[in-house]
Amino acid sequence: MTNNNMYFIANWKMYGNLSSITTLKSIKIFSKTRKLKKTKIIYCPPYTLLRPFVDTLKSSTIKVGAQNCHHQTDFGSFTGSINAKMIKSLGCSYVILGHSENRREGENDKIINLKIKSAIKENLKVIFCVGETLKEKRKNKTKIVLKKQILNGLKNISKFNNIIIAYEPVWSIGSGKIPASKDLDNIVIFVKSLLRKRSRLKNIKILYGGSVNTKNIKELSKIRSINGFLIGGASQKTKNFIDIIKKTIN
Ligand code: PEP
Repeated sequence: MTNNNMYFIANWKMYGNLSSITTLKSIKIFSKTRKLKKTKIIYCPPYTLLRPFVDTLKSSTIKVGAQNCHHQTDFGSFTGSINAKMIKSLGCSYVILGHSENRREGENDKIINLKIKSAIKENLKVIFCVGETLKEKRKNKTKIVLKKQILNGLKNISKFNNIIIAYEPVWSIGSGKIPASKDLDNIVIFVKSLLRKRSRLKNIKILYGGSVNTKNIKELSKIRSINGFLIGGASQKTKNFIDIIKKTIN
């Protein structure tokens, strides 16, 4: 069995400048290999690089997404913000919402729910991040936290075909630590069954994110319940990102 219909999402966070564009050349070539026909590769650079990324990648199957958006769809007086409509108009197809680095800055479930609604309205695909902190994990609260984040984040939303969930334990992001395979499989299955009950949707995609790298990907890719990976630090070196994809699909 192959893993070739997986998602690989590069979250560049607040890294990169115009010269980073040159690093896309090799992944553009790589993405044209036959084996990757069903594989979804998505780059989420900072806002400043969205348009250059869209332009550079337009002759490939690689898509581009933003890392956040404002919850209001219309133009408005929100200094420093950009909305889903603006992101869509740049030629992007995805947006990451609910990332723990933004929750840490005060984004709550209610705001995330509004952001998801505004992104769906603009026909963007949403990568909706959820995950527990170390403190919550130690208190055995992982499933309670995930259930709350997911049900609140998806409140009054009935269309799920444009939503992908990324399970990202906060304690794993950037720490080099990943969950035990058995625990991870158990959590992904839990989230899938929660969504099945909530929406009767059978094939919602669940990704894993948190310290994915070229060393641990072999082990992670054996977990069949996972539909792909959201990759931060390791995606900024194109060679490593390609290596992660290769090791998963082979
Ligand atoms: C992330 O921030 O979404 C992430 C997964 O980061 P890292 O891979 O660096 O842990």
